[in-house]
Amino acid sequence: MDGKIGTLYVVATPIGNLEDITLRALKILKRADFVLCEDTRVTGKLLSHYEIKIPAISCHQHSDLKKIGYILNLLSQGKNLALVSDAGTPAISDPGGKLVEASISRFGSLIKIEAIPGPSAVIAALSISGVPADKFIFLGFPPHKKGRQKFLSKIIGSEITAVVYESKHRIIKFLEELNLLIKLKKQEDKNFAVKIIVCRELTKMHETVYRGDIENILKEIKENSNAQKGEFVVVIAK
Ligand code: SAM
Repeated sequence: MDGKIGTLYVVATPIGNLEDITLRALKILKRADFVLCEDTRVTGKLLSHYEIKIPAISCHQHSDLKKIGYILNLLSQGKNLALVSDAGTPAISDPGGKLVEASISRFGSLIKIEAIPGPSAVIAALSISGVPADKFIFLGFPPHKKGRQKFLSKIIGSEITAVVYESKHRIIKFLEELNLLIKLKKQEDKNFAVKIIVCRELTKMHETVYRGDIENILKEIKENSNAQKGEFVVVIAK
């Protein structure tokens, strides 16, 4: 490899409110040669809001080795790339990590990979949860089938605060299954108690935070079809 390898900037973007972006992130997005994004339409909205003109390359979970190879070649040609995801911090429950891994395995210590930190739904939810967050376990999305029971048991058994991502399609199912497990635990141990915080649409117009008894939270969400829309983070603490 001759010449300088470009820098890969891993840039956090808003999780809803477009104003939640750092000055440094905007500077990088203005100066980089290309932005690598999951969905060019989603990132396009952010870029046009800030009047940033930068060529976009789509790089998502289905990107094949050829695409990754193309992006790595850009880096070897000295191009500086800004990697973003649809929302929040790349690699946190989204595909950004694949490219970071591929860059390290291709260039080793020769490549500079810089974090441009900013929003992430897991941290935003914890910050308003009101439960201990000095230590926590982030479990991402629950598996749909295989390993689901183990996943739920891990949450219930965790001594430290657990955080889970869930989609609008599965939030009720997830809370119902969690509720069932909590009931079983309470039968075994009458002192068993957990705190549940369901954060919906953080930083957005319809932001709602449900706290307290899981039965009540479930009832509230089930009774209001609007409450079933959007994106969710669930925090579970002892
Ligand atoms: N990389 C992102 C981050 O740093 O948070 C997460 C990407 S993951 C594909 C998307 C999930 O994050 C959603 O299904 C939801 O669970 C959570 N999420 C993202 N934005 C959110 C928001 N504004 N409010 C609540 N949850 C959100």
